[in-house]
Amino acid sequence: MRIAVIDRDLCTREKCGYVCEKVCPVNRMGKECVVTEEEGRYPVISEQLCIGCGICVKKCPMSCISIINLKEEIGSPLYQYGVNAFRIHGMPLPKDGVTGLVGKNGIGKTTSLRILTKQLRPNFGSTKRKKISDEDLMAKFTMEQRRYWEALGSTAKASYKPQNVEQIRGVFDGTAAELLRKFDEGRKDEVIGKFQLEKILGRKLSQLSGGEMQKLAIAVAYMKNADIYFFDEPTNYLDIAERMKIAVLLKEFGEKKKVMLAEHDLAILDYASDYVYLFWGDENVYGVVSNVKNVRGGINEYLSGFLKDENIKFREREIVFSRFSEGERKKPPKFSYSPMKKAYNGFALSCDGGDVREGEIVGIVGRNALGKSTFVKMLAGVEKPDEGEGGQFKVSYKPQYIKAEEGVTVEQLLSAKDLNASVLNECRRRLDVNRLLLKELDELSGGELQRVAITLALSREADIYLLDEPSAFLDIEQRLNLGDLLRAIFSDSGKSAFVVDHDVVFVDAIASRLVVFDGEQSSRGHASAPLKKRDGMNAFLKLVDVSMRRDKDSNRPRINKPGSVLDREQKESGSYYYGEN
Ligand code: SF4
Repeated sequence: MRIAVIDRDLCTREKCGYVCEKVCPVNRMGKECVVTEEEGRYPVISEQLCIGCGICVKKCPMSCISIINLKEEIGSPLYQYGVNAFRIHGMPLPKDGVTGLVGKNGIGKTTSLRILTKQLRPNFGSTKRKKISDEDLMAKFTMEQRRYWEALGSTAKASYKPQNVEQIRGVFDGTAAELLRKFDEGRKDEVIGKFQLEKILGRKLSQLSGGEMQKLAIAVAYMKNADIYFFDEPTNYLDIAERMKIAVLLKEFGEKKKVMLAEHDLAILDYASDYVYLFWGDENVYGVVSNVKNVRGGINEYLSGFLKDENIKFREREIVFSRFSEGERKKPPKFSYSPMKKAYNGFALSCDGGDVREGEIVGIVGRNALGKSTFVKMLAGVEKPDEGEGGQFKVSYKPQYIKAEEGVTVEQLLSAKDLNASVLNECRRRLDVNRLLLKELDELSGGELQRVAITLALSREADIYLLDEPSAFLDIEQRLNLGDLLRAIFSDSGKSAFVVDHDVVFVDAIASRLVVFDGEQSSRGHASAPLKKRDGMNAFLKLVDVSMRRDKDSNRPRINKPGSVLDREQKESGSYYYGEN
């Protein structure tokens, strides 16, 4: 079985002279393997005639063709977006409790949620315009799928929180209170309290931060009177305490309602879910949904890259967690900065002085609105402190919010002369940026833009690298790859970095010491000096009232259930953190 996908955003059609048609050996034998469609003039590859030689993939100047020779039998797709386009095989079904969806970006999780909420109608791989009849749909469904499809819209109602909350701003111009009123079915006051929305009610959606918009979108979906609730990536923009709160709310909600959750923060997904479906395949080419699995075993199978029940190895390498967190570096300080103060818009920030050592990554953790980004900007010299001095060193800075320039391709951006060629090549390869080179920046997804911005920041020549929320929009595998890359770059070069992030698993994997922020959100913040990892993690987890342990098989960090025996014991002994360093 073979899959051929052409990325039509990249394909230039006649401009390249249809190289694929000319080089295809099947075409050269007189058959019509690659032809040009009449409407649109895009090339079309016949998956039946293609022999999977890969010549067109190598010769295409735009790198827009993917040919996959499948080792496993995966059957017909449930939904295919068009000729030579992405397709999803299989359908996750909501179970009682919380069902998590685990997988990379571009592998079909959002497509599945759109099918389950009937925004997309299965076409079973047919690319004809005529929609499949109800009779055919029912005949092709399995018994369970048929039951679900028939119930939804008649006896069962669905509520959906979309992945991209920015879309809501695009279609609604009022205040948060007006949005809640619009969708209120009797639980408005309850969700305002539960999601602590009181302070933002009078503000227009355009004035809300990413985190405030995310909480509002979750609250709207949560508030509806439905039977099945779908939450697509609910933790983007939220800090760890807010993530934990959402996870607890969803878990409690799952005791009464069916909840489905697509999420990349492994610790949060693990905590909130009872069951998981694993998604595997090739990014933007095809996705396959596994059988349903219990959460602990399922996540461990995902990390191992091998599906036991299905007997399928879907990834060559295993994702491994060490029993030991990244340890403290014994090198002498390389750079130091003085205590700093800064006041603005009714907010006061004070920072203890500190230093960074050769080859060290210092993690910066804390709740939102405590001044983390301002601290980073003062270190970077982008903002001047009222008292004290940031560092006198050359800084490369990746901001939290990345602006995509119009009309500039990734290749143009990365061809700047002052970049370190060997770091650039390493980042391009390990962050899978090479296949994005011909795309324009404003066409990239959030995760793609993030990988390009990280590549650019790491490739600049500097003494200190400041990365503000590099894991945002990255999937589980990309986060772990990025962790490996950062450790390799900084320990080899002897250069140093500060990294702000809310994903505890990611921070734990990369940082040797931690700067911990405390204070009162939006009024005063305080940054500690870099603390030993164990002390910093304990202080931080105590502030957000979360305790963690390691999984005994995979060593991955797991959040303890609040109030459980382990949670109480760890908190009483002050060991909020599982670390061994
Ligand atoms: Fe032709 Fe298929 Fe080979 Fe491409 S991979 S050149 S379409 S036979």
